[in-house]
Amino acid sequence: MNPSPFFKEDEFYCPCCDMAAMHEDFLEAIYKLRAETGIPMRITSAFRCKKENTRINGAKNSYHVRGRALDWDVTRLSSNDIYELIYDVQRYGLSIIYYPSRGFMHLDNRKTPIFLVL
Ligand SMILES: [Zn+2]
Repeated sequence: MNPSPFFKEDEFYCPCCDMAAMHEDFLEAIYKLRAETGIPMRITSAFRCKKENTRINGAKNSYHVRGRALDWDVTRLSSNDIYELIYDVQRYGLSIIYYPSRGFMHLDNRKTPIFLVL
């Protein structure tokens, strides 16, 4: 998979061990989403090893551990961008879990996409 000009490889790394076993289809969807929407994405968490996932109390079967998820800061996005994303991500086969009060959005590529606002 060719790297995207919009991301640095280390943005996907686990903060504890610098590992990033990212799922190729997931990265492809994220790269396309980023390129086609033009919306900047500041990643706050992508790959997590099991140890890191336990440390932060992540979900037991977290998609982050499988390299199929990322969280990103959406506090600088306009409501139009958020609205656009909510519709757009479905075209890329991505799921959204949006946490407005915490200012971030989780994206993953689970088999049956979901959309949740928490
Ligand atoms: Zn780690």
